[in-house]
Amino acid sequence: MDSQDTGARALHLLQTVFGYPAFRGQQAEIVEHVGNGGDALVLMPTGGGKSLCYQIPAMLRDGVGVVISPLIALMQDQVDALAEVGVRAAFLNSTQTYEEAARIERLVRTGQIDLVYIAPERLMTQRCFDLLQDSPIALFAIDEAHCVSQWGHDFRPEYIKLSVLHEQFPNVPRIALTATADQQTRAEIAHRLQLEDAMQFVSSFDRPNIRYQIVEKANGRKQLLDFITAEHGGDSGIVYCLSRKKVEETAEFLNENGIRAMAYHAGMEHAKRASNQARFLREENIVMVATIAFGMGIDKPDVRFVAHLDLPKSIEGYYQETGRAGRDGMPASAWMAYGLQDVVLQRRMIDESEADENFKRVLGTKLDAMLGLCETLSCRRVRLLDYFGEQASPCGNCDTCLIPPVSFDGTVPVQKLLSAIYRVDQRFAAGHVIDVLRGMESERIKTWHHDSLSVFGIGADRSEQEWRAILRQVIALGLVTVDHEQFSSLKLTDAARPVLKGGQKVQLRQYQKPVKQKRAAAAPKGYVETDLTPQEQAIFDKLRWWRVETARAHSVPAYVIFVDATLREIAKAQPTSLDQMRGISGVGEKKLASYGDEIVELISAMQ
Ligand code: ADP
Ligand code: ZN
Repeated sequence: MDSQDTGARALHLLQTVFGYPAFRGQQAEIVEHVGNGGDALVLMPTGGGKSLCYQIPAMLRDGVGVVISPLIALMQDQVDALAEVGVRAAFLNSTQTYEEAARIERLVRTGQIDLVYIAPERLMTQRCFDLLQDSPIALFAIDEAHCVSQWGHDFRPEYIKLSVLHEQFPNVPRIALTATADQQTRAEIAHRLQLEDAMQFVSSFDRPNIRYQIVEKANGRKQLLDFITAEHGGDSGIVYCLSRKKVEETAEFLNENGIRAMAYHAGMEHAKRASNQARFLREENIVMVATIAFGMGIDKPDVRFVAHLDLPKSIEGYYQETGRAGRDGMPASAWMAYGLQDVVLQRRMIDESEADENFKRVLGTKLDAMLGLCETLSCRRVRLLDYFGEQASPCGNCDTCLIPPVSFDGTVPVQKLLSAIYRVDQRFAAGHVIDVLRGMESERIKTWHHDSLSVFGIGADRSEQEWRAILRQVIALGLVTVDHEQFSSLKLTDAARPVLKGGQKVQLRQYQKPVKQKRAAAAPKGYVETDLTPQEQAIFDKLRWWRVETARAHSVPAYVIFVDATLREIAKAQPTSLDQMRGISGVGEKKLASYGDEIVELISAMQ
């Protein structure tokens, strides 16, 4: 197959089957490379459009494309979505009956389907190997390839064994895809999957439609509620919490306050978890409160916000979680509330973990980078992209760009704080140290005669919240540590000395009282225009109702029928014939044939 031919055929499939006018980013190059039999390692952010990178080559090449994915619960939806556009796909996993699996195996063996999704543990069985040896294979696609990394949080031991693909099927092209990979993970993927010689395609990790906001935590749940009410009323979103208990409590709190929310964590009964996930995918206007166990492979395109009530362990995790917002390219938010307690808790979790010293150091470095992001005085996006090795300029669509934080010379208050810690013999926790600074008359202060210290009351000009914000930054800067073995007492590090004695300057971020969130007046750069005229809006609403009913009748998630962006375009174009509808992004031939008449009729009825 010559490559020009491949490119043209690929574009034709993109337009007629998937209904998209053009490839995005590096998709065209990847599709052509794999379509021509090359190996590829693809790094693309969530929502970048990884699926087409293997789906189209699988259709271009003879035989069946084998997709290895750990996401058994989502295979049905993936296959249904392909069926909607007329692609023949199936899956093999442990949820099937023997008869059903045998039927799919026959289709694979005779090459009668384009794609088959297989769970990695299934792939490793002799039965499956025999099947693949007997079948025409177009390619292997290894989805969520970061699962091969032992450093990452999604490690799956079966992934390590996927190197056998190369040994057993040396002539079949392989494409590995992931949305997370710092340099180290990328090298590990290439090494473990024997993809060192594969062409690497690294896309920009920027997600311009996501607005990043990190606020200081006062009353986290209440702040969350204000945020959702002010900015995302009626939207679907995900709220991440650290513990199972907090997940349950937060979901309950949101429900009590009129927001439809469900819980998801690994401690729940499997059936309940699965049904909550299915509801989240199928329904609109619904919030999932979850631990990080939730989310991998969730390709609901209209998640409008991702909120964190607790500090994530690393920027990789944070970026992957927030990346689940706005896959459809429409405006979305990544919001987080973080405070002193988070810093203390995360540090403690590292200290108390069973890991060896080396690994603890890696975890500590990752946490420091995360704290740096929280405390930054400059653009969050610049900071995020820099972490992934990308240069950027201030984005205009994050909190620090929209409302630049005020910084101040914090040397004097920091010296006061460090002295107070020193004067109480580095044996007391944050609350007590702050009470001493503020000159509070507590029982404990009397017991220890701390009211006679020279530092007593020297910080009375600042509120407790302000002192907590200063302490948090001082911990983030590494001047103070928290000793978990000794009642969380605060201790000075060697780095504190030059500040305390030598007058080394410290620049701090001004504490800002939590304010009620307001919608930004003007749409900032990166936002997609979403305004519709009243007539277009009416059609759009009608189309959404039509979609609800159609999705229910086909028992698929609504977005499998059409995504919001497509409905919006239809509402604007108001096609009165099938020909006018052809060419709208997201309308391929199969969907045109299935739904074109209904939609044209629905629109003419409203004119
Ligand atoms: P990823 O797996 O990288 O997170 P997906 O493959 O799920 O992303 O794609 C995200 C969304 O973008 C999907 O709704 C998909 O249909 C859409 N999409 C992908 N490629 C294109 C394209 N070339 N033009 C328009 N939409 C696209
Ligand atoms: Zn910015």
